[in-house]
Amino acid sequence: MDKSRMQQVTRDLLETIGENAKREGLRDTPRRVADMYEELTEGYSMDPKEILAREWNEVTGMVVAKEIGFFSLCEHHLLPFHGKVNIGYIPSKSVVGLSKLVRLVDCFSKRLQLQERMTKQIADALNENLHPYGVAVVVQARHLCMEMRGVKSGADIITSELRGQFEKFETRNEFFEMLRKEV
Ligand SMILES: [Zn+2]
Repeated sequence: MDKSRMQQVTRDLLETIGENAKREGLRDTPRRVADMYEELTEGYSMDPKEILAREWNEVTGMVVAKEIGFFSLCEHHLLPFHGKVNIGYIPSKSVVGLSKLVRLVDCFSKRLQLQERMTKQIADALNENLHPYGVAVVVQARHLCMEMRGVKSGADIITSELRGQFEKFETRNEFFEMLRKEV
């Protein structure tokens, strides 16, 4: 990221709002905002193939990772949406550790995003790299662009992608049952 350009853009934004970008409280804001955007968009430099490369061979039943927290930025308003990602898959030959799934979620959430697209990208990456018998990804999130402005609705938005065996009612049911269960 061109951080000096990002700082200049931020200074322009502050002045366009009608602020004095030189006042004390705002003096370091362009630098902070540039650092922040670098961090919040670091998913662009992450490669899902690389993240999922170090799998190990093990035949198990359904693997479920519940409530992986994430923060993303909606591409329409540059405001956060945040919530939990639930992942289920049925390995055909390889499984990955939980830390890989967390990094995979980071890879697709730390970008300008749409919740629907992020859900699909996580499911596709698992499908293409682990070749499981099935993948399910369910994302539950709150969108600040809907809560702070516009319709001012605080509803949770839920999106899901179901592939392979999860298209079968019983498998899907088992997955949703595991999500409901308190551990
Ligand atoms: Zn939005």
